Amino acid sequence: MAVHTTRMLIIGSGPAGLSAAIYGARAGMQAIVVQGLQPGGQLTITTDVENYPGFRDVIQGPWLMQEMQAQAEHVGTRMMWDTIVDVDIAGGTPFRARGDSGDEYVGDVLVIATGAQAKWLGVPGEETLSGKGVSACATCDGFFYRGKKVAVIGGGNTAVEEALYLTNHSDDVTLIHRRDDLRAEKILQDRLFAHPKISVLWNQRVDEFLGDPMGGGLTGLKLIDTVSGQESEFACQGAFVAIGHAPATELFKGKLEMDDSGYLVVEPGTPKTNVPGVFACGDVMDHTYRQAVTAAGTGCMAALDAERFLATLEFVRHEAAQAAE
Ligand SMILES: Cc1cc2nc3c(=O)[nH]c(=O)nc-3n(C[C@H](O)[C@H](O)[C@H](O)COP(=O)(O)OP(=O)(O)OC[C@H]3O[C@@H](n4cnc5c(N)ncnc54)[C@H](O)[C@@H]3O)c2cc1C
Repeated sequence: MAVHTTRMLIIGSGPAGLSAAIYGARAGMQAIVVQGLQPGGQLTITTDVENYPGFRDVIQGPWLMQEMQAQAEHVGTRMMWDTIVDVDIAGGTPFRARGDSGDEYVGDVLVIATGAQAKWLGVPGEETLSGKGVSACATCDGFFYRGKKVAVIGGGNTAVEEALYLTNHSDDVTLIHRRDDLRAEKILQDRLFAHPKISVLWNQRVDEFLGDPMGGGLTGLKLIDTVSGQESEFACQGAFVAIGHAPATELFKGKLEMDDSGYLVVEPGTPKTNVPGVFACGDVMDHTYRQAVTAAGTGCMAALDAERFLATLEFVRHEAAQAAE
């Protein structure tokens, strides 16, 4: 077992963690990034990315994350192949984290960038057609379905917002919900029902995504009526699963403040958690925007605030040492 000590420990290697690392390493904080089970984060499971600033042409998600990692390493970040299984933050700085490998990581500041995963239905065709007609992010992928017939699956705020957003690209949007009423806020429901491009299919459960992953992609959905049990097919070229996200915060339960959905709570407009010296950035603290560029932005903020925290901490330690002499 090895102990890795640093001024800045970062958990997570998506856009938030790597942006924090780039700023942190350049500020001399010897950033260590523990990568977790998905090195590079969520963008490594997508293909075309067209909205990350700086690239005129469509780029590939995995390529973007390789470049981000290379940039982080180039400025001095140490990348660790490990997954954190326990953290000790109760005693304040320095913070300790234990990896699956048995190694221990100690950081004067801790940056949490563990992200959030979209919830999926877990039915046949969903995984194989992901990126080929099946998506969990209308803001990310809606543009690719211009003029096409699309479906949104879900009944909460996210589903209704995704359906409304998709009307920017498609004239034929259908919201599919397994019950006969929506959980979404009334104002969103009013906008949805009044929208001429949106229809709603009630009491329908998606049982399978249909199409050819090696050919034309998604062609439709197999639906089951939740009241009669009757089976039907719904033709569409795009399907957006909008049944929520799960933030990766299991590790921090009872240790950091969280909201009812498990997202880390930060001081508004900052990445500061309720424990001084622990910062959160990216999707793990943001259930509203959930974009690579916003994750990178809050990663930058976390590193800048971490640097200020360390400067104060080191000044206090220096003063205390002088007083003791
Ligand atoms: C299919 C798909 C397509 C998308 N397309 C776009 C797009 O076109 N444009 C766009 O802007 N956004 C897009 N997004 C959203 C974007 O990917 C996310 O908003 C962004 O990746 C969030 O970054 P993050 O760094 O906060 O977290 P993530 O990217 O989720 O990274 C989380 C990191 O934390 C690590 N981790 C988790 N737990 C642990 C642990 N215990 N120990 C160590 N590490 C851990 C993981 O391994 C991972 O490296 C897409 C998302 C998906 C799923």
